[in-house]
Amino acid sequence: MFILVVNAGSSSLKYQLFDMDTREVVAKGLCERIGIDGKLTHNTVGKEKVQKDIPMPTHAQAVSALVESLTDKEIGCIEDMSAISAVGHRIVHGGPWLIKSVLVDDKVLADLEKCRDLAPLHTGPHLLGIRGCMEVMPSTPQVLVIDTAFHQTMPPEAYTYAIPYELAQKYAIRRYGAHGTSHRYVSGKAIEYLGDPNAKIVTCHLGNGSSISAVNAGKCVDTSMGLTPLEGVIMGSRCGSIDPAIVPLLMLREGIPADKMGAWLNKQCGFLGLSGVSSDLRDVRAAAAQGNGRAKLAIDLLAYQIKKYVGAYAAAMNGLDCVVFTAGIGENDSEMRALALKDMEYFGIKLDEEKNRVRGCFEIHADDSKVKILVIPTNEELVIASDTMDIVSGKEI
Ligand code: AMP
Repeated sequence: MFILVVNAGSSSLKYQLFDMDTREVVAKGLCERIGIDGKLTHNTVGKEKVQKDIPMPTHAQAVSALVESLTDKEIGCIEDMSAISAVGHRIVHGGPWLIKSVLVDDKVLADLEKCRDLAPLHTGPHLLGIRGCMEVMPSTPQVLVIDTAFHQTMPPEAYTYAIPYELAQKYAIRRYGAHGTSHRYVSGKAIEYLGDPNAKIVTCHLGNGSSISAVNAGKCVDTSMGLTPLEGVIMGSRCGSIDPAIVPLLMLREGIPADKMGAWLNKQCGFLGLSGVSSDLRDVRAAAAQGNGRAKLAIDLLAYQIKKYVGAYAAAMNGLDCVVFTAGIGENDSEMRALALKDMEYFGIKLDEEKNRVRGCFEIHADDSKVKILVIPTNEELVIASDTMDIVSGKEI
């Protein structure tokens, strides 16, 4: 069975085709500059990567272009479109309406429309991607796999904000979290490794956007991102958690209007704003190595905040069996992992400094560490493909 996984952005659309017999990717690619001119990069495994300029005025035309590449005799890997059993779409925010992976119908699309306010940058492009696929592949089932779904098991004390209850209800304001598909994948892998379905795990997804989750017996019980992906630890250009009073103060003093403030908090803060160097941790590290004190402070801030979340979530779960690192920083930056988990022996957390430095090393805890420490490359696309297959095969999710 072949499943196509689609991740639609405003002017781009990433795709991967999975052969679910082997659970391997057989082809992948990227449609870029949708609505501008159009460029497609396609790579069938074992064949040469191709790049083509193809007009893509709409997402539907981008979908047509990728289907043509997948079915092309030279560069493709399937006979025709009917070989694709279903399409799985990555959805960033499902609000309180879409709380598990689901087959698309009119009601589901109407529910996703309601999420526009909660994730304005993502929901519109997602809808364009889904409708584009429905137009080009009208008889192929479309499935939504939703990032916020994994966090729906949080208890009220973890997801509630102390604002007037009626307003929270009226505007669906609560903690939803993000990166749920990644937290679900890596915590599942950690449970497999530990051989303990009841394990207490803290998963650290540290990338350009970062979030940390507490996963108890396979269920998310808390997570650092909130109503939107702005809350939690310092990120590439997002501020993470700050005193809310800072927002009106800066709006008044700097004359920043309300509609610009959200973009400012998302794009001008974090590593970029604090270091003044870049939103990319590699650049920030290079600057710190040259003696840039603000760059060093930005690095120290993230490590300190990770440490605090690990401690807080161990308290919330009444114990800790495993800490998992994933995503760009989590998988690659051994110094960040070491700094974040330094001096936590009293928690039973002890890193093996040498293993930690070996790229691709899975277990990085010391032999006598009570808590296991793992580096697990995330694979959100595989979760999307698996859920999509399960749903079209009639399995309960
Ligand atoms: P992601 O959003 O998961 O792609 O992660 C992007 C972040 O990972 C950026 O801040 C990068 O600087 C960081 N990153 C990627 N590779 C490395 C590396 N080898 N060492 C340190 N940071 C890295």
